[in-house]
Amino acid sequence: MTDKTAAPAPHFLRTVMAEDLRSGKYGGRVVTRFPPEPNGYLHYGHAKSIIINFGLAAENSGRCHLRFDDTNPLKEDVEFEDSICEAVRWLGYDWNEHRYHASDYYDDLYRFAEWFIEQGLAYVDSQSAEEMRATRGTLTEPGRESPDRNRPPAESLALFRRMKAGEFPDGQYVLRLKIDMASPNLNMRDPAIYRIRHASHHRTGDQWCVYPLYDYTHCISDALERITHSICTLEFQDHRPLYDWVIEKLADGGMLERPLPRQYEFARLNLTYVVLSKRKLIELVSKGHVEGWDDPRMPTLVGARRRGFTPDGFRLLIERTGVSKNDTWLDMGLLENAMRDDLNEIAERRVAVLDPLKLIIDNYPEGQSEDCFAPNHPKKPELGKRALPFSRELWIERDDFMETPPKGYFRLSPGKEVRLRYGYIVQCTGVDKDASGHIVAVHARYDPDTKSGTPGAETRKVKGNIHWLSAAHAKTAEIRLYDRLFSVPFPGARNPLGDTGNTTDNATIKTVSADADGNVAEAVSEERNYLDDLNPSSKKTITGYIEPALAQAAPETRFQFERQGYFVADLTDHTKETPVFNRTVTLKDSWSAGNRD
Ligand code: ATP
Ligand code: MG
Repeated sequence: MTDKTAAPAPHFLRTVMAEDLRSGKYGGRVVTRFPPEPNGYLHYGHAKSIIINFGLAAENSGRCHLRFDDTNPLKEDVEFEDSICEAVRWLGYDWNEHRYHASDYYDDLYRFAEWFIEQGLAYVDSQSAEEMRATRGTLTEPGRESPDRNRPPAESLALFRRMKAGEFPDGQYVLRLKIDMASPNLNMRDPAIYRIRHASHHRTGDQWCVYPLYDYTHCISDALERITHSICTLEFQDHRPLYDWVIEKLADGGMLERPLPRQYEFARLNLTYVVLSKRKLIELVSKGHVEGWDDPRMPTLVGARRRGFTPDGFRLLIERTGVSKNDTWLDMGLLENAMRDDLNEIAERRVAVLDPLKLIIDNYPEGQSEDCFAPNHPKKPELGKRALPFSRELWIERDDFMETPPKGYFRLSPGKEVRLRYGYIVQCTGVDKDASGHIVAVHARYDPDTKSGTPGAETRKVKGNIHWLSAAHAKTAEIRLYDRLFSVPFPGARNPLGDTGNTTDNATIKTVSADADGNVAEAVSEERNYLDDLNPSSKKTITGYIEPALAQAAPETRFQFERQGYFVADLTDHTKETPVFNRTVTLKDSWSAGNRD
């Protein structure tokens, strides 16, 4: 069941926008932005930010800007920009002509900085980074003013110009706002806004050797782009007074236009059984724990795409879990269920046998075959049916046969009947074993009057209903069975199982404290390495049989393999000659309490 058509649930951001539209605060405009730093690949958490920013803009006939927050010349690269654009497009969004860079504003940012100096609201400080840290104070103690704090504006201005001209080495001076060293908010204690960095920038080259810092850059970029609602994650809540201070001052000075943007914070996406910290994702790739950034087990958006996850599945997850101001941990089962629910709607059904056992229909003529017809989607007859060839020798799943079945086993066993779905009812007559007693084939007889879809075929009821493929017609395929990357909910945490010890599929796990990157290990304990919690069976590669038509599937086509799960033709490796399918997710959650064997 999917609620894609359900009315969007109210949350505080929707309420704020509706109110601003009603009051006419921004003249009916809604302009949001998604501001990634081009220093890595986007992950599931970014999908939440993208969906909120682009989604809310679209809901309100507004627009969303894509802005690369490229103020750190040392860590950024165009390669990442391309992959970020592709990920946003993959999620279904378009920024149209509104693709910007913080570095587009370097001239303005510099000009405004000189203005702050002239106003006596900024000064050049010669303290080292350590000294600044040491004099910053704590939550309970005020900071100490720098000896340079009362440097005359003219002197600061001259020094700032010389910083820009490249006369000083990195770190010799910084430009700081002059706000309040005794503010209870540490961000207001004369934050640094410019530093010297003799480094080439991927867009501005060697034009600059002073670079603006995030807090200063972000609010001004928002204001210059006439953003209305600047939505970010909770760790920026304490930065909001600074955000407002900078742009209010500039607007008072006539440098920025009102109405000014306003910042709103929401809880970041944290998920169990993965890590989303950039440092850890880099380590997983560089140490070879996965096969690259687009490994289907990686919580990156390139990984999600190869895994077969869908943009609508991510939207469903965000819609279901809402946008709140409380940091919580979502169970990975919620993401998987959202994907299942979307895939259940959109994925055509196919048959694959992943652990094959030969079934020989002794009373079916050798060399003969006929078509059975299987619906492409049980709830969408308009998608039609396809032919499944039936013949004397079939493949069935090994665990659909038991020689001595326990009570309640309704699949195939000696003397028992099952329906071969879309085909005939067969009765098991015996087995062939090799010298070591291993079952190599099962024998059966079919009842010619029971073919599915023919008159009277359904009058005989049997409990078991198993899938099969004609051995002469099936193609082989490489099947990659993916599972969760980590085998515990909180990789690396002192109590990696969390408070409850296990998770149920609709649970929202309450907060385990973590740092701003969602690192449980760092926040809770340094004693354990999250890598020790990797799931050793997160990927299994097998050779299975698929229906002939599946080999023709275009890469990235998603299917339900009946009774098995959702699979996708691999984006990179799948060809008609050598089909490769990735398991996106099983049909049922095998991780929630009691389900795991
Ligand atoms: P860093 O700042 O360490 O490089 P980041 O994960 O914050 O990494 P950004 O590129 O700065 O990456 O993020 C772009 C946007 O995505 C920001 O607005 C950020 O708040 C948001 N974002 C990042 N991680 C999450 C998350 N887990 N859930 C929701 N939004 C997120
Ligand atoms: Mg960030």
